[in-house]
Parts: sequence; C-alpha cells; structure tokens
Amino acid sequence: MATASDRKLPNILITGTPGTGKTTTCELLAIATGLNNINVGTIVKEKECHEGIDEKFDAFILDEDKLVDEMEDMMSAGGNIVDFHSCDFFPERWFDLVVVLRTYNEILYPRLEKRGYKQHKIEENIEAEIMQVVLEEARESYKPEIVIELMSNTVEEMEDNVNKIEEWVENYKATHQ
Ligand code: ADP
Ligand code: MN
Repeated sequence: MATASDRKLPNILITGTPGTGKTTTCELLAIATGLNNINVGTIVKEKECHEGIDEKFDAFILDEDKLVDEMEDMMSAGGNIVDFHSCDFFPERWFDLVVVLRTYNEILYPRLEKRGYKQHKIEENIEAEIMQVVLEEARESYKPEIVIELMSNTVEEMEDNVNKIEEWVENYKATHQ
C-alpha cells in the first residue's frame, strides 16, 4: 500500500461548510491538474454508503466504514482530489494536503438560500462556519502542516486558490518522482 511519502501523485482533500465552493473549486482544479476528482457525496449515494436520510437535515446518515472501503483502492493509488464537507473519519494517511475553504456569512447565507436549503439547515451551516467547525475538525484530524485555510468569497479568490493548489501539485510531482 502506498504511503504518503511514496505516492507519485498526491491526494488532496477540499473540505469546508456546504456552500463554500468545494465542488466548483475541485472541478476547476481537476481540469488544471489532471488529477481525478472524487465527489464523496456522489459515492455515498451511488454505492449506498449510508443508513437512510436524516429527515430534519435532509442529509444522509453516513456509513463511514463502507465509504472508506469504497474509496480505499482509489486513494491508495494516489492522484485524487476529494470533495467533502467533513473529514474526521477518513484515514489520516490518505491525504498529502487538506484545504479548508472559508466564506463570510453574508456571502454564504445567500448561496445556501439560492440552493433551496430549509431555514434551519441554512442556520445550522452558518453557525458551523462561524464556529469554524470544519477547520477545527481538519486540524484535529491531520498534521497541522498539511492543513491550509483559504478564503472563498469571490470568483477571483477561487481562481487564486486553484492556482495556489496547482502550484503545490507541481511541486509535489517534482519532488516525488
Ligand atoms: P460546495 O460544494 O462547497 O457546497 P459549491 O461549489 O457547490 O459549494 O458552490 C455553491 C455555490 O456558490 C455555487 O453556485 C458556486 O458557483 C458559488 N460559489 C462557490 N464558491 C464561490 C466563490 N469563491 N465565488 C463566487 N461564487 C462561488
Ligand atoms: Mn458540493
């Protein structure tokens, strides 16, 4: 099994509160780098890595073990960009870089409204963003030196983020041949 140090291509986790721009960023990053884009939400649905739906929050109740099993082969091979809103149950050894996207409330709120989220789900997510829940989770789950926080309020910031991560990938490739 490839470990963090001998993977020729890196695995990158893009995480953050819903609406911070994970999926858009991952899609741009996959085009820029040629890395494989894994939308975890899609795997959860298609491979049924869940135990039904939490009615109150309109969200799947994850079967984390099944999900990790489903992803293991791809992750061991390296070269993946992983898009998910939580990160504490993934094996630590999977990731070489963990990016936490952040968005100001006044920008995040209308994004979630536009998405048609119920009021209490919007509030839950806004509160999570204020409390830095995902950032704290990332810092507790991975070595601090691989966790970076990037602002994602504007299209310009998103483009900067993609460029920055692309540079990081190029550097990784050059030093892991
Ligand atoms: P996530 O996957 O984190 O839930 P999405 O990538 O689906 O977020 O983005 C949610 C919405 O917000 C989309 O309509 C997207 O175009 C917009 N968006 C995301 N990030 C930005 C950004 N940095 N600047 C402007 N719009 C953004
Ligand atoms: Mn998404």
